[in-house]
Amino acid sequence: MNRTWNQYVVKRENKTLVLTTIINHMPISRANVAQVTGLNKGTVSSLVSELIDEELVKELGPGESSGGRRPVMLLFNGNAGYSISIELAIGNILGVITDLNGQIVNEENIPLQTTDFNTIFPIMTQLIKKLIQQAPKSRYGIVGLGIGVPAVVSQKGEILLAPNLDWKNINLKEKLSEIFHLPIYVENEANAGAYGEMRYGSSQESKHMIYTSLGIGIGTGMILDGKLYHGLSGFAGELGHMTIIKDGRSCRCGNHGCWERYASEQALIDEGLNRQLITNDQAEPLDELIKLAAAGDKEVIKLFEEIGTYIAIGLTNCINIFNPEHVIIGNKLMKAKEWIYPVIEAYIHDHAIGFHQNKLKIDSAKLGIYSPVSGMAAFVIEGFLFDRKTTQE
Ligand SMILES: [Zn+2]
Repeated sequence: MNRTWNQYVVKRENKTLVLTTIINHMPISRANVAQVTGLNKGTVSSLVSELIDEELVKELGPGESSGGRRPVMLLFNGNAGYSISIELAIGNILGVITDLNGQIVNEENIPLQTTDFNTIFPIMTQLIKKLIQQAPKSRYGIVGLGIGVPAVVSQKGEILLAPNLDWKNINLKEKLSEIFHLPIYVENEANAGAYGEMRYGSSQESKHMIYTSLGIGIGTGMILDGKLYHGLSGFAGELGHMTIIKDGRSCRCGNHGCWERYASEQALIDEGLNRQLITNDQAEPLDELIKLAAAGDKEVIKLFEEIGTYIAIGLTNCINIFNPEHVIIGNKLMKAKEWIYPVIEAYIHDHAIGFHQNKLKIDSAKLGIYSPVSGMAAFVIEGFLFDRKTTQE
């Protein structure tokens, strides 16, 4: 490594540090950036000038001063570009445009009647094109595209297995790259949800967090020591397929007694049909069950409580394994929070090993159904801003 290269790397790292400091502390003066980063004022001043020229930072009127001339405050310019994020769920595709602060500026939701990839792919690409057209004009335009999928995803953005979609070995990133010449990120939906809650949601402070996505299946994303945990090949977090019942219900993953066969939205709907609480001609069976519970139907409330107990059994296992500070429960089943949540809390309180409970917080996802798309936006934005070397390059 020669001297010039070294200087280049140091400068790039300093610039990233200055930009990160402005994003995390804005509005902030140049002098305070120097104080926070430990860089000298001259260096900060010249890096800030570059960032202003690049339209990533802008100046706000004078800020508070304890005396003397009031300093000019710096802001990160969240409107310098936009990100497109998609959550490909079972039964719908949610697409959003966010600014560089991760704020959603527009969204589109398309219901799906099928899980056939060849039908869904063109629907998804049309949606992406529509969102690209809707994005406000900006210096950098669309800075990237992020897709969250309920699947085991390889480090190259290939869907290896999506049991609930019945997909195997689909190179989604490659297929999208043929159409969209943008940085593309494909990630497991629960990992994206965990990242979204960590960056923009209810877990911005905790370094040890488990996010559980309760949809048609169950996915979990883990933030361990402040980082999204991927495991050796990026497959960590398939906790929906941990066995909770010996010789239990068969699962599409090939195993029996998996957690998601007892505690997911699909498990709820299956049991609702079994017990003839709903009929199979309902377009939105979960909403129908919620309506019945709200009207005081005791059998339906009992079913929600049973599902809540199964959710809590799996969460208790997660808590005992990972000793998290924060457990966040997200996705569609939380629409029934009113009946499920108290059961979960009480069960964990009675069953998780006591030491784990000292500092443990359990919450529903602050971003609601937007946790995964927000996480995908964060991957895209950080890739753009920090030239982050991702595992998918
Ligand atoms: Zn399974």
